[in-house]
Amino acid sequence: MKKLVVALDGPAGAGKSTIAKAVAEKINYAYIDTGAMYRAVTWKFVQTGHAFEEEFIGELSEKMVIEFQPRDGVNHVFADGVEITDFIRTPEISKLVSPLSAIPRVRLAMVTQQRRMGEKGGVILDGRDIGTVVFPKAELKIFLTASVDERAQRRYKEMLAKGIDVQLDVVKTEIAQRDYQDSHRAVSPLKQAEDAILLDSTGKSIDQVADFIIKKIEEKAK
Ligand code: C5P
Repeated sequence: MKKLVVALDGPAGAGKSTIAKAVAEKINYAYIDTGAMYRAVTWKFVQTGHAFEEEFIGELSEKMVIEFQPRDGVNHVFADGVEITDFIRTPEISKLVSPLSAIPRVRLAMVTQQRRMGEKGGVILDGRDIGTVVFPKAELKIFLTASVDERAQRRYKEMLAKGIDVQLDVVKTEIAQRDYQDSHRAVSPLKQAEDAILLDSTGKSIDQVADFIIKKIEEKAK
């Protein structure tokens, strides 16, 4: 079967990474969490203690090597050889990642790495601009969404499970703000590609959504 490039875009908390991971495992595709890449740059920037300056952050992002290692159901993230999986989903990083990912030079650096990682196919990438900018010719594009209440609930439970102390309404406000910023930035805003399939995951299980996507992949790969 042909090895496709699958683009999975959508707003924060729609379940993209859970779904992408499930699909990749079931059909032996590579999974690239592009949000984790922007989070990795944000984490590195926070470590420097430097002021928020586009030029500085742009240069930092160009020098970074970001890698993924799927193991035991977890997509381990490395920045320049250091494992940062558990450090990139904190409220501090979530708050800073949107303004940082709006910097054109940062986007160019990440998009270049993403294209290199995905060029051979057999890959599912989740993000905001995969179907519109990174791989506009991807064979399958899905735009995954869910109600803001459900997305906030999911993120809230995820964070509690990781021992991060948060309140539901704070998570909901953070998600809504991030959606707004991601959809209104000048470069590569979050938007559904014209040829993407709109998939609303409200009330659907992970398996239901993953199986739907796998069916579409199998149809296209024939
Ligand atoms: O997917 P996740 O919520 O981890 O993404 C974190 C942030 O990274 C998003 O809110 C967005 O600002 C940025 N992002 C992006 N383009 C992508 C993936 C993520 O700008 N392809």
